[in-house]
Amino acid sequence: MVRIGTPGTSAETKLLLLGSGELGKEVAIEATRLGVTVIAVDRYAGAPAMQVAHRSHVIPMTDAVELRRVILAERPDFVVPELEAIATPTLVDLEAEGVTVIPTARAARLTMDREGIRRLAAEKLGLRTSPYAFASDRDEYRAALAKVGLPCVVKPIMSSSGKGQSVVRDGEEGELAYTYAQEHGRTGGGKVIVEGFVDFDYEITMLTVRHAAGTSLCEPIGHRQVRGDYHESWQSQPMSDAALREAERIARAVTGDLGGRGIFGVELFVKGDDVLFSEVSPRPHDTGMVTMISQDLSQFALHVRAILGLPIGPIRQHGPSASYVVLGDGQSDAPRYEIDDDALVEPDTNLRLFGKPELRGPRRLGVALARGATLEEARAKAARVVRGVRVIA
Ligand code: AMP
Repeated sequence: MVRIGTPGTSAETKLLLLGSGELGKEVAIEATRLGVTVIAVDRYAGAPAMQVAHRSHVIPMTDAVELRRVILAERPDFVVPELEAIATPTLVDLEAEGVTVIPTARAARLTMDREGIRRLAAEKLGLRTSPYAFASDRDEYRAALAKVGLPCVVKPIMSSSGKGQSVVRDGEEGELAYTYAQEHGRTGGGKVIVEGFVDFDYEITMLTVRHAAGTSLCEPIGHRQVRGDYHESWQSQPMSDAALREAERIARAVTGDLGGRGIFGVELFVKGDDVLFSEVSPRPHDTGMVTMISQDLSQFALHVRAILGLPIGPIRQHGPSASYVVLGDGQSDAPRYEIDDDALVEPDTNLRLFGKPELRGPRRLGVALARGATLEEARAKAARVVRGVRVIA
């Protein structure tokens, strides 16, 4: 049996979100639908999830002392990380003291940098990945380039969404890539990973949910990245039977090892029938925003159900669907949106604006959603919605 209390009473069930961006906002909405109290935490005030949470805290989440203070003050039933930049060793300690971390503190710690998860997948689980090497200084980096070979992709181990990432095709680019990674990693000046460039046919996210009644997989989500950042995703990506089976096997192997309950985004590269593991998020995935229109239970609804210990039955797919991001640029403390009168007149289209309070350069501010008779139609419809939305910085 699962017990849920009532917000604002002594019997509330509390979910504390570490990270309050657009993914956290949707988790918060789904949690409040089930009568859960949501406490949103982030490093800045007015973050998207804070706008729909019961209360919020502004702290540097990489600060172990502050993180411990807030979690112990709130005593939540569930601590739900929404991003990687968290003092995860503190989560490991708190879990040992009885705090529930979703999916597990170990999963949060292993995936907070690229090294932990890459070594787990390739060296412990024996999954196929691109060739790789890590480097802590320029000498090690040159050795890593020589080992992996060109072309390759260089990334800070502490980074996501393409930050500090570049493709290296020759020696000169190699020198620039190292400096770029050093300057744009989350912590600055950290280790880098050198990965062999994978000439994939397409890349997918396998949303995998571990819940009270087992493990369920969503249909594969295809996506298009621009300089390592997601711009467009669609479901279901057409795949050969062999590639789909292998993708599902890898998704089950990785999530099975990480354990706990909740949704995971397993990122894979596919070429023909070959499938390579790239990385995994033990939380909702940005490319999974398409599930807000493609499935009866979105990745956020699935996450919350799993967290609460509720089972998940068959996940219903509504047909070819797509998401297309709304990007802003410039400098603003009060971005505004102009939406054309006909932007949303097409059937089966929708728009989410995240409500991010500030703009400092390029930033994802919303997402358009669409369903169509075919994937091409869904993608074209979502792109048309975005064309009807202007960001005024
Ligand atoms: P990541 O932050 O590792 O998910 O990388 C972001 C995106 O960059 C991926 O979704 C791919 O489109 C691209 N990418 C990353 N690593 C590689 C690789 N080894 N080979 C080819 N493309 C890559």
